Amino acid sequence: MGKVAEKLNVFQTLLPESVTLVAVSKTKPNEDIMEAYSAGHLDFGENKVQEMVAKAEELPGDIRWHMIGHLQRNKVKQVLPHVHLIHGVDSMRLLKEIQKQAAKLDLKAHVLLQMHIAKEETKYGLDEEELEAILETNPAEKFPNVVFRGMMAMATFTEDQDRIRKEFSYLKNLFEAKAVEFSKGQWNTLSMGMSNDFATAVEEGSTMVRIGSAIFGERNYS
Ligand SMILES: *Cc1c(COP(=O)(O)O)cnc(C)c1O
Repeated sequence: MGKVAEKLNVFQTLLPESVTLVAVSKTKPNEDIMEAYSAGHLDFGENKVQEMVAKAEELPGDIRWHMIGHLQRNKVKQVLPHVHLIHGVDSMRLLKEIQKQAAKLDLKAHVLLQMHIAKEETKYGLDEEELEAILETNPAEKFPNVVFRGMMAMATFTEDQDRIRKEFSYLKNLFEAKAVEFSKGQWNTLSMGMSNDFATAVEEGSTMVRIGSAIFGERNYS
């Protein structure tokens, strides 16, 4: 068994069955993805539209591609035919564009609302006010081609696990509080946890973790 498959195995035994593992393959070559795929893994995460589309066109059609990065509105059209779940819906404008393009393609776009839970100013995500604004539109009517599956967030990048835990706990509460308003029975996904904080995320109720470097090794951006 190769290194990637070995690491995947470790995670599969570590994680509860109720938690979906998204293997974050951004910057990694197709060979690494195929090693995981051959070991039975189907969920992969990418953060750049061009890279995801290129990989989707070359690799097996039953792979479930997760768009985990910031999505620009002018790329929605390109990504929709290939994507299984969009994790980073962080504005009303993006949501409107997803609705528009999904209607044109006559498909349902499955999305997670990305919430801002970290202290850093730079991280993307909705605040509660923006979330309320989406709810006030009556999303089921306004966005008939969008399936709201749940929420996603990134915690503050810190060693302080207490702070991370508080942020995840806040997200979990928000996710549950909004279940009734969004639910058409498919509001069931809470995407939180990465290589450095997945254990805390799972303890706080994550149903989907996004693990990159702990499976594929450190990324080289050069
Ligand atoms: C890159 C990335 C991950 C994976 O990060 P690792 O620390 O390598 O596990 C998870 N989520 C998002 C949104 C990312 O961009």
